[in-house]
Amino acid sequence: MPKKTSQQSKYLYGPVPSRRLGLSLGVDIVPLKVCTLNCVYCQLGRTTQKSVERGDFVATDAVLAELKERLAQGLQADFITISGSGEPTLNAKLGELIDGIRAITDIPIAIITNGTLLHRQDVRADCAKADVVLPSLDAGDEQGFQKVNRPHKDISIEKLISGLCKFRQEFAGRLWLEVFLVEGLNTDAEQIAKIKAAIALIRPDKVQLNTAVRPAAEPNVRSVGAEKLHAIAAGLGQNCEVVADFSPGRHRGHLHSTAESVLSMLKRRPCSLDDICSGLGIHRDDALKHISHLQSQGLIGSEKTNRTVFFKAK
Ligand code: SF4
Repeated sequence: MPKKTSQQSKYLYGPVPSRRLGLSLGVDIVPLKVCTLNCVYCQLGRTTQKSVERGDFVATDAVLAELKERLAQGLQADFITISGSGEPTLNAKLGELIDGIRAITDIPIAIITNGTLLHRQDVRADCAKADVVLPSLDAGDEQGFQKVNRPHKDISIEKLISGLCKFRQEFAGRLWLEVFLVEGLNTDAEQIAKIKAAIALIRPDKVQLNTAVRPAAEPNVRSVGAEKLHAIAAGLGQNCEVVADFSPGRHRGHLHSTAESVLSMLKRRPCSLDDICSGLGIHRDDALKHISHLQSQGLIGSEKTNRTVFFKAK
């Protein structure tokens, strides 16, 4: 059993390279796979607790204490990103946590959410405290929503779209909508036209197209080719971009470079060797040394997707 050190994080991970937010320090405030959805493409596997009940999952003070410690160690990040292992708006203390983060740092705050609880006024008020909110919309009708996102029975596509519209009216910050496309599930012309109509109602600042480049919850999930993705982006309008892979080389000096921090990263999502090197600011040789150590302990495994090897925690 590894000894607990001040570098071990319970609630924070990274900073990791994010294709959408640059160097992002993740804050995980909901237990693994407690979510309102069970998306076929989820990198964290199938949802184990599908819920719409907000709860008190973590002690806000403990999260803030960890963050204070990292800031004292010279943390550098483009964003503090509230997301993680489940749907973060299920945490009833989200607003209180954002207030607490604001009190100790000027680093901008982002929330990555599936957006399904934005129909609730309290959730909209909490999310409105962030600088950037990145919700999702992967379908234009109920059938597509059920196929791709497999929602909790109390959530419908109508509720999701109207919540997003209300939030847009109330939120003065930046709203970047992600559309995650799965080949054969939500890529036909009719579904794309319906998604486009919903985007026109929501009026996000940006639309970001993504696809399954990492191992997903369901083995038959297929990614959309780059050419097709760019064609769909062009059809969706000027503020739509394909979210490109983070390019390595954005190192910011010494971040975390222990096997423990590699494991912490891999517990959150599968990562390639380049992801690990960029996220932790370490050389390939160091990353390979930690990977081999963790593999020999049986703590991580690997899987090849789209010709890239991804490592993930067991
Ligand atoms: S991708 Fe996000 S919203 Fe979908 S099941 Fe996974 S954690 Fe939930």
